[in-house]
Amino acid sequence: MQQDVQLVLSGRWLVSMNGGVREEAGISVAVAGDSIAEIGSNLAAKYPQAELLACPHGLIMPGLVNVHTHAAMSCFRGLADDLPLMDWLTQHIFPREAQLTKEIVYHATLLSICEMIRSGTTSFNDMYLFTKEAARAAAEAGMRAWIGEVFFDFPSPCYGELENGFAYAEELFSTYEDSGELVSITVNPHAVYTCSPALLQRAAALAERKNALLHIHLAETRDEVQGCVEKYGRTPARHLEQLGLLNERVVAAHCVMLDEEEIALLARRRVKVAHCPESNMKLASGIAPAQQMLNSGLKVGIGTDGSASNNDLDMFNEMSTAAKLHKVREFDPTAMNAESALCAATLGGAEVLGAADRIGSVAVGKKADLILLDLRQPHLCPLHNPVSQLVYAAKGSDVLHSVINGRVVMRDRRLTTLDENAILAEMERIGATVRQMR
Ligand SMILES: [Zn+2]
Repeated sequence: MQQDVQLVLSGRWLVSMNGGVREEAGISVAVAGDSIAEIGSNLAAKYPQAELLACPHGLIMPGLVNVHTHAAMSCFRGLADDLPLMDWLTQHIFPREAQLTKEIVYHATLLSICEMIRSGTTSFNDMYLFTKEAARAAAEAGMRAWIGEVFFDFPSPCYGELENGFAYAEELFSTYEDSGELVSITVNPHAVYTCSPALLQRAAALAERKNALLHIHLAETRDEVQGCVEKYGRTPARHLEQLGLLNERVVAAHCVMLDEEEIALLARRRVKVAHCPESNMKLASGIAPAQQMLNSGLKVGIGTDGSASNNDLDMFNEMSTAAKLHKVREFDPTAMNAESALCAATLGGAEVLGAADRIGSVAVGKKADLILLDLRQPHLCPLHNPVSQLVYAAKGSDVLHSVINGRVVMRDRRLTTLDENAILAEMERIGATVRQMR
């Protein structure tokens, strides 16, 4: 395997997420095929035939894992801000989503992938409409992605009646199962307030049959909880439990409104949580009890949510926000320390997606999803503690190189798999169309 090394990353710090932090001039990670082959000193000299991505003040770390996105919602970024979730959804987002097309979703997903790669994200877990287009965009970009077509009780602009939605999902599975692409298909009932119990159960049965993740919004707002209690006599988490749907396949996004008993219940059922602090702040949904969830043993990853409610996909921002927000919530500056936030954005996110055996840390044999940051910047100097610097001071724009599955997708901040200028031009045109939608 080591003879086949085609790429070496070299820097001064390595934050591996499973072996602490190493500081050493010329610390290197060698990549063979799609995997990490070796970690050591000055590997460029050992593998002179390999491409070298070197930076004397570089920090090498695993690529970030964004566990809850609606990538194509970048077409709505900044269109309707400063509104409550339900008004935002029903008056601004749903009417426009009803007019979405395959082309808009394809180009807006490409735009988001550009943004994600540029800010250090190498994997994302996406729930949206027209997801054949999102999957196509991810495959073209060489991005690792979990993608699922959203289900709800009303007709979809993508597939029309629900029955067709299940056929659409089956087609996605058959296209990407064993395809060798980096795309994994998931099953995505939108939420308990948009999906009947029968739909939730049918979606869960599909996820079980396909051994896929079941990605759902859960307990995002007080309104969702009240509505669920009025309709079913129990809270959203207890509603899913009653339906027998809580298990290790479930990725529950938001989980803002959970009580202690529900946290214990989700932990017992080994549900995974996608924590989206900035979206929850912007829509004034509340603060998820993420520190309590971690204390209870729940696996918690960090997600940006769609960029219409954030309004960006920069996971460095999101980590920093998560780390600070829980300190305020708890009146405790030791809550959600830098290490916990960094873990939630890397290895923790990989655990949420059931992929920690492949991604989330820098270890020999794992897939080569790696980023290298240039720390020679005024806002990152001097360097006392790399983990602190990554969470509290670094920005997505500090990422110099990015590698996904052994392939360089950004070299010296230039994307190698996507034509960024063409994507920006297309999205300017699409933006004008989206603004005119009523
Ligand atoms: Zn969401």
